[in-house]
Amino acid sequence: MDRRKFIGLTGMTLVGTAAVAGFPNIVPGQAMPFTLPALPYADNALSPVISANTIGFHYGKHHKGYVDTLNKLVKDTQFEKMPLEDVVMKTAKSEKDKTIFNNAAQIWNHNFYWNSMNPKGGGKPTGKLAQSIERDFGSFDAFKKQLADTTVSQFGTGWGWLAADKKGKLSIVKTGDAEVPMTQGLKPLLTIDVWEHAYYLDYQNKRADYVNAVIDKLLNWEFAAKNLG
Ligand code: MN
Repeated sequence: MDRRKFIGLTGMTLVGTAAVAGFPNIVPGQAMPFTLPALPYADNALSPVISANTIGFHYGKHHKGYVDTLNKLVKDTQFEKMPLEDVVMKTAKSEKDKTIFNNAAQIWNHNFYWNSMNPKGGGKPTGKLAQSIERDFGSFDAFKKQLADTTVSQFGTGWGWLAADKKGKLSIVKTGDAEVPMTQGLKPLLTIDVWEHAYYLDYQNKRADYVNAVIDKLLNWEFAAKNLG
């Protein structure tokens, strides 16, 4: 069955669009029950860089698991009817709500990750984004190397990001576990997941091969440009 039809967006409760500073508006804010958004492509569309098998576990089990767990955790709490972005920001610094943050942020990160890739992606950005990359990294090749090096060097689980500050200056950051750039005042433009579940079935321990293949063949520059604004 076509997963896009199967999951669909039906049943999602929309609570306006994201109004939280730093959050690109990828998926309108969700409230209880938090839902698994449709993949923006078929589960075999990123092959051979990322196999349908990996997507099956990563999207169908891990991402879905965060959604199911969050719905259980927020039941009868103040977070139950909040847009996902609000749950992430309101729990980000709280030791008490750490588990809620981890699951909410992982839902958000994965929504953003699937959109950061495109079966026809890779290549180079154009326009304002291309100019910003040249200005802030010197060249596209220097940018690519820094993105790969920073992302690959994340110790343990986490994420590599291209992000922009409030003035539009670009930087590459890495975050551990479920952490998000928004809590550092940065707006994400693209992300690469380097939890082992993202690549181990296809690449085993060769994290750099996975990261470089995503950068060269899948990065969704239209999505990044839209996020830069
Ligand atoms: Mn993941």
